[in-house]
Amino acid sequence: MTIDIQKFRDLNPGERILMGPGPSDVPARVLQAMASPCIGHLDPYFLKIMDETQQLLRFLFQTNNALTIPVSGTGSAGMETCFVNLVEPGDDVVVCINGVFGTRMADIVNRIGGKLIRVEAEWGRAIDPEAVRKAVEGRNPKLIAVVHAETSTGARTTLEDIAGIAKKCGALFLVDAVTSLGGVELAVDKIGIDAVYSGTQKCLSCPPGLSPVSLSDAALKVLKGRKTPVVSWYLDMGMVGSYWGAERKYHHTAPVNMIYGLREALRIIAEEGLEARFSRHKLNHKALVAGIEGMGLSMQVPEAERLTTLNAIRIPEGVDDVKVRKALLNDFGIEIGGGLGNLAGRIWRVGLMGHSSRKKNVLLFLTALETILKSQGVKVKPGGVEAAAAVYPKA
Ligand SMILES: *Cc1c(COP(=O)(O)O)cnc(C)c1O
Repeated sequence: MTIDIQKFRDLNPGERILMGPGPSDVPARVLQAMASPCIGHLDPYFLKIMDETQQLLRFLFQTNNALTIPVSGTGSAGMETCFVNLVEPGDDVVVCINGVFGTRMADIVNRIGGKLIRVEAEWGRAIDPEAVRKAVEGRNPKLIAVVHAETSTGARTTLEDIAGIAKKCGALFLVDAVTSLGGVELAVDKIGIDAVYSGTQKCLSCPPGLSPVSLSDAALKVLKGRKTPVVSWYLDMGMVGSYWGAERKYHHTAPVNMIYGLREALRIIAEEGLEARFSRHKLNHKALVAGIEGMGLSMQVPEAERLTTLNAIRIPEGVDDVKVRKALLNDFGIEIGGGLGNLAGRIWRVGLMGHSSRKKNVLLFLTALETILKSQGVKVKPGGVEAAAAVYPKA
């Protein structure tokens, strides 16, 4: 077999402004860290980097959980890790479903033979704790799972009440924090979360490839007490935990340069401070909403249930969804997301995550959207961009 290697050009993806459901913009510092020399995964220097990464992750999750590590894989690997380690065939598992990612959790529970108890809410709404309370009445489920930030709809579910219900019925509490960790307040120990996972490419602004996971002592006890082995060899937290722990027992080869990148992204977060970071996400979200409503458009999710990191904007009647998104990308270099499931064609999903959550992105996006809608003959109220700009403190 021959190959015409001239046809394979130098890599040149160009630059984008990433305002979709992920990945978000990656700061140069993170890319530079990833370009550092690849050394052995058992090299003493790298062992120190692994330790520091775990310390930084505990800070970010606001937890003292010993087992707090980046799983080698994307956010979905973290999701699968939590379920395969904590659920055995026949276990009752409550999964709250209000979008794509709750649906994915339910799929995993079915695949591993858990007995699925569904608690549903309309897509675009938060999960109602009352519905969870009803679902567990007279039952002792092994685990209750909820998505904190539903990236498919822009809805944020409040965790405290559901954590209380889980505690009362003796269930472990599992949280998907993929689009909240690093963007939205999330104190794992204070809330009482037993298993939590995230992804690097959303509010951490690191390329996709790692999934931070943290398991409480109660979760580790359940893992130790299993009657059946964890069905996934690769994601078995007993073995992965020994690799990241004091023993450094070889399990798989950590993706060395990805971990350099994550460590740098976590350093950036710690330098900014969690409170300042959450406030920044709130401010840019507020400005975006002011701009959208100022233009005469509306948000999909009720105000009290809105995420700051993922903003669902209703597509006005008669507007061509795909044409607008194409023009945003081609004319302005801006990537946003479309709707999924029954929200396809009905919403735009605008991510303001991590490094992408910036004043200049908000103002550029609103200017671009107004320009494109006008050019397509859509009536837009004047003053949207000005309304957004007015939200920011005077320089
Ligand atoms: C993106 C996302 C996932 C899946 O993460 P991948 O990195 O795409 O595997 C899971 N849950 C939520 C809420 C997400 O936004």
